[in-house]
Amino acid sequence: MKVGRESPEELRERVKKIIKLLREHYPHSRTALHYETPFQLLVATILAAQCTDEKVNQITPLLFKKYPTIADLARASQAEVEAIIRPTGFFRNKARNIIAAARSIMEEFGGEVPDRIEELIKLPGVARKTANIVLSSAFRRAEGIAVDTHVRRLAHRLGLSSAKDPNKIEQDLMAIVPREDWLDFNYLLVDHGRAVCQARHPLCNECFLRSLCPAAAEMAAEKAGEQK
Ligand code: SF4
Repeated sequence: MKVGRESPEELRERVKKIIKLLREHYPHSRTALHYETPFQLLVATILAAQCTDEKVNQITPLLFKKYPTIADLARASQAEVEAIIRPTGFFRNKARNIIAAARSIMEEFGGEVPDRIEELIKLPGVARKTANIVLSSAFRRAEGIAVDTHVRRLAHRLGLSSAKDPNKIEQDLMAIVPREDWLDFNYLLVDHGRAVCQARHPLCNECFLRSLCPAAAEMAAEKAGEQK
């Protein structure tokens, strides 16, 4: 593998091989957040910031039982929403954002979650990552690639982007990932990031992407250095 001197065509070919292997190993890759409507996914994704999906899945049934519709949440009291979502962390901001997003959907979008990225990112608390999750999972629309902590880490290790800014990483990925794979790319990398390419201790020796990953050799050298 000659990542440093890789041509754009070679990089695209390598990405296709990476995606093929990821799909073989994670055939059911999808968001781990539980939801029944686009709005529920939007709320769950806002709550998932700096929190685990498991914790969010424990909280959202209580929240949606108390506020079954977007209109209900738009009328909710900040203090009551805070009390329910408190375990997800940053609960004041999150409560403010989900109530404000519900109001905005009622007042500006006729009570329907918009299905265009340029409209979704106008909602309070919704940046491109959240918008891409909602679009790809709830609407099956490929308008971008959600860049979260797993995607960022794996994009760097796999030599797909060296950018720090998530929006720039997304642009780099959109230029090399085939559009038909945009919907699942985030979930595939999240699954691999959780199962194998973990932040602190990537399991390079067991990784099926090893022969396609420029970081594999660096990680092995680092480990050898630690053991000396
Ligand atoms: Fe991550 Fe190592 Fe696999 Fe590369 S070889 S994707 S760094 S686990």
